[in-house]
Amino acid sequence: MSLYLYNTAAKKKQLFKTIKEKNVRLYTCGPTVYDYSHIGNFRTFIFQDVLKKWLILSGYKVKHVMNITDVDDKTIKRSIDEGIPLKDLTTYYEQRFFEDLDWLKIAKADFYPRATDSISKIVEMISALISKKYAYVEKDGSVYFKIKNFKKYGELSGLPINNSTKSARVLTDEYDKDSPQDFVLWKSYKKSDGITFWESPWGKGRPGWHIECSAMSIGYLGESFDIHCGGVDNIFPHHENEIAQSEGFTGKKFVNFWLHSEHLMMDKAKMSKSSKNFFTIEYLKEYGFKAGALRYLLLCGHYRHKLKFSLKSMLKGNRVLEKIENFSFRLIDKGAMGLDKKLLKEPEDCKIFKNHMNNDLDTPKALAVFFSYIKKVNKSLDDNNLNKVALGRAWTFFSIFNDVFSMVDLNELIVPSSINNLLALRKKARAKKDWKASDEIRNLIKEEGYDVEDSVDGQRVKKIKI
Ligand code: AMP
Ligand code: ZN
Repeated sequence: MSLYLYNTAAKKKQLFKTIKEKNVRLYTCGPTVYDYSHIGNFRTFIFQDVLKKWLILSGYKVKHVMNITDVDDKTIKRSIDEGIPLKDLTTYYEQRFFEDLDWLKIAKADFYPRATDSISKIVEMISALISKKYAYVEKDGSVYFKIKNFKKYGELSGLPINNSTKSARVLTDEYDKDSPQDFVLWKSYKKSDGITFWESPWGKGRPGWHIECSAMSIGYLGESFDIHCGGVDNIFPHHENEIAQSEGFTGKKFVNFWLHSEHLMMDKAKMSKSSKNFFTIEYLKEYGFKAGALRYLLLCGHYRHKLKFSLKSMLKGNRVLEKIENFSFRLIDKGAMGLDKKLLKEPEDCKIFKNHMNNDLDTPKALAVFFSYIKKVNKSLDDNNLNKVALGRAWTFFSIFNDVFSMVDLNELIVPSSINNLLALRKKARAKKDWKASDEIRNLIKEEGYDVEDSVDGQRVKKIKI
């Protein structure tokens, strides 16, 4: 089966091919650790997680690097405003970020390089760009990239750059698409930087944000690699500038596939830290939402379309999650986990699901196929009509789905044998209508950390979250 991905650089879907057979080198722009990441950020990170898991499921070996932006305009400003050393501030938010990743069942990257650990590579790249006339040093010791000298400048974002483009300079890391300008590679030291600076051939200063990602991606993945991802707001100026710096430095094509996910919205505005219209993972946890519900909400829309967030849609996420959990529980209850491997074959519906995923990760259509399959299998279960072959197929499809969407926490559904023994005793007590014994056993099970519910399918236990 062939995988097609929408490549922002080509402005169309393309057949995915790797540089080295069956090996994918993947770089994803990571968080700027001056505040908590919000669920808008996690829309992008979950899209990347699904992409990576899908590649792995399709037989690729993936080397994944995600950077941590721990020095830029925003981190420095925050550390000065709060009177906290930069390192303490960024370490705190980096840790919170990793905790959120774990909770969201996002697979770990192979490397999380920090910008502050990559200064020597950054200085090496800037020096080379100056010698190749792609960059110049200003009187104050700041270094700028000269966009007119890089012929491909503007191709990724589709910006018309011509001779009339002004050679004005921009010092800030973020700026508007309407004003493409020479951008900063190295910022000379200003009082407002406090104690944050490094020595360089151009005097003391610090790197611009864009060069950080060029240095870290090339440093960890090599001069040319397969996929580079981010949110759509990264296309300009960040990724446009990354291409200019990296290709100016190496003279080689930097990245084959550029993938960008659209924004998570609050009403009509992009969810963002600066607009203060964001939700954090901590907040959703406090309200008792589960990671699987948020993953559903973020994957029920296609990654290239805007998606609106609301607490109402989170509630729907909870209901959907419960439906999938019930389905997997029913399969486990029928012995799906102990089935002979020969019975684990994909049903036809799973092939359709895979076709949708191979079509630029069409998660909404893939989910629809999975849900109609659940309905069919649930009907067979209701009619007590699911034979071992059908059970094996259902379990195979569920496993493929869950390996990628990671919604159901199987550890929560699988119960230790000691609990199973107590459940068997309770079943006997209930058959004899000995409600007192039944309640006592329920309490014993609770003490062991599990809740029992009595459903039409029998007793169901769930691990109690602490
Ligand atoms: P930051 O921590 O601001 O550097 O952002 C980390 C990632 O989140 C980047 O790839 C952004 O493009 C992405 N991002 C920021 N806001 C949103 C949003 N509302 N929806 C989706 N992705 C976002
Ligand atoms: Zn980046």
